[in-house]
Parts: sequence; structure tokens; C-alpha cells
Amino acid sequence: MKYSFFPLIVFSVLVACKENKSINHQSTSNMEGSEHGKAHKHWSYSGETGPEHWAEIEVDSDCNGKFQSPINIVKYKENGNLKAIDLYYADETRIHDVTNNGHSIQYNFETGDYILVNGLKYDLKQVHFHEPSEHTIDGVRYPLEMHLVHMDDSGQYTVISVMAKEGEGSIPFDFLESFLPLKAGESKKVDRPFNMNDNLPELKDYFFYTGSLTTPPCTEGVNWYIFKEPITVSLEQVDLLKNLMPINNYRNEQPHNGRQLFVTAN
Ligand SMILES: [Zn+2]
Repeated sequence: MKYSFFPLIVFSVLVACKENKSINHQSTSNMEGSEHGKAHKHWSYSGETGPEHWAEIEVDSDCNGKFQSPINIVKYKENGNLKAIDLYYADETRIHDVTNNGHSIQYNFETGDYILVNGLKYDLKQVHFHEPSEHTIDGVRYPLEMHLVHMDDSGQYTVISVMAKEGEGSIPFDFLESFLPLKAGESKKVDRPFNMNDNLPELKDYFFYTGSLTTPPCTEGVNWYIFKEPITVSLEQVDLLKNLMPINNYRNEQPHNGRQLFVTAN
């Protein structure tokens, strides 16, 4: 009698793992080493698999590294050498698909949009969201943070971060959200053109520092460009994303450990 539960338990565990695996597999295949990619086990945003445990769960990751993200953007220095980011976002780059990878809602872009940083080309790979924001600016946490994940040919990451505050509704968001809702593990073909320029703040002043991916494997050496000016989205637009993503899908603040933070000079 005592043992009759055993197969049931094993079965439940197997099902749970399999479900999770299929989510991970799907997200990995869609993302080509994107921010939420690579073989992760059961990491999450809360409890025993939450951010404080990522380094234990992901043994070969950088999650316990010294130069991690996100951070509180504070004690930054004006730097006159920081130039405007060269954004080559076409008005008709296609979004291939949108996926709910169980950690975030992510739009995967077809190759076309790119940025130039110090003469190096980084292709826009995908855009996803955190609710509320991961980075804080002078201690302020925004309702939403959008990550534009770029990668060069050698696999080096540059992420542009756009904060969103509550206000007037965003027309680009209306378009992006028209493909939602999606259940965790679900993807939907988009195959429609999108102009990323419409989704950015007018002023392109930014903070710059070097950190990591904010999800396992927490890879370091990531260039972070965080626009100072937020865009506005409506409460309904925030809520739609919020309700499809894990609650508080942000990683806790990481120590600066002597890193220098810069801001573009006015
Ligand atoms: Zn992110």
C-alpha cells in the first residue's frame, strides 16, 4: 500500500520536467543564444529556483560572477566621448514570430535591423519584456523594461534597454500585443514588418555600463545601453504583458563591484 503512490509521484515529476523541457527547447531553438536561451533546467523568478539560486542550478553559468546585471543606475559620470548609438532600424524589418517562453514574451526578428557600436555591427535578434523593470535609475523602478537583444558575428551581446512608464497608449505596442495572448510554451507566426524606431524614445541619451545577461546563463561581457527617457504605454498595455509573464520577472539588483557607469553628456 505504501509503495502504490511511488509510480504516481515519479510519473508526475516526469511530466513536469517534460513540460518544462518542451518550453525550454522551443525557446532555445527560436533564439539562437538569445538572452533567455541556452540549456537551463528549472530556473524561475521565485522560491527555490528563484534568482538567488540560479548559480546553484546553473553550475556552468556566470550567474555568480562579479559583473552581473541588472544594477541600480546610480553614481554615473558624464562622458563626452559617448556618441549617439548608430541605429540602423529599417521601417520594414519583419518580426518572424512571438513566443511565450515561460519567462517572458519575446518577439524574434528576422535579420535586417542592426546597430553599430565602435565600428562593430550587432544584429537585432529579439525583443522581450520585464515587468516591472530590472534596472532601476537612481533607485526608481519603472513599470516595464524592454530589452532589445543584439549580437555580433562572434556571439558578443549588446542590449539596448527601454523603460516604459504609464501614460498615453503606444501604437507600436498595440501592434505587438495584437498577437497575444499566448500560453507558456506557445509561439505564433507574425511575419509582419515592424519599425523599431517607432518604439523608442525621442531623446536617445543613454547610460552605459558593462554587465551580463539577466537570465541564466548570465553571460558576462554584455554592453548595456539604457535610454534615459522612458516611452509611455497604457496601464492596459502593461497589464496584458504582465498577465502572460511570471509575476515579477525581474532579477534582483546586482552589486557594481567597482564598475564605472557613464551617461552621455548634454
Ligand atoms: Zn531581459
